[in-house]
Amino acid sequence: MALLEIKKYPDPILRKKCESVEEVTQEMKDLAKSMIETMERNNGIGLAAPQVGKLLRVIVVQTEREPIALINPKITRKTKEIEIMEEGCLSFPGVWLKTKRPRGTEVEAIDKDGKKVQIKAEGLFAQVLQHEIDHLDGILFIDRIGLFQRLKIKIQLRKIQHLNK
Ligand code: ZN
Repeated sequence: MALLEIKKYPDPILRKKCESVEEVTQEMKDLAKSMIETMERNNGIGLAAPQVGKLLRVIVVQTEREPIALINPKITRKTKEIEIMEEGCLSFPGVWLKTKRPRGTEVEAIDKDGKKVQIKAEGLFAQVLQHEIDHLDGILFIDRIGLFQRLKIKIQLRKIQHLNK
């Protein structure tokens, strides 16, 4: 299975909206497998298809037991309770930001065998799911931070853009 190249900010593909997957084909399973391998090789705990250049609603996330792929994931519930956590992203190497997100969430999706799954998540796992699902609509974690953090990150982002050149 081939490792995939991770698109780094400010690659314009990271701002695009992804399309739903109509059918879980072998090609889709292969993509999910390669995404899991790419995530693990880069020590990530989540990865979304646009980050590897595919505009499809597919994410992979690390769970306590094993990495899983979720197709067409949708958030069906969010808790009112908010949690502030430090967050990173494989498209922003070296950048860590405090984001505010609902503490718990429920997600509906299709697994790699085409079966419908429902996931209840809290804490870090909930945060990762929300982060990855955001990617499918072109939303990045830098959109989920306060003004003060935003000023701080400007400097870090400039460094990344410089490295990408
Ligand atoms: Zn990310």
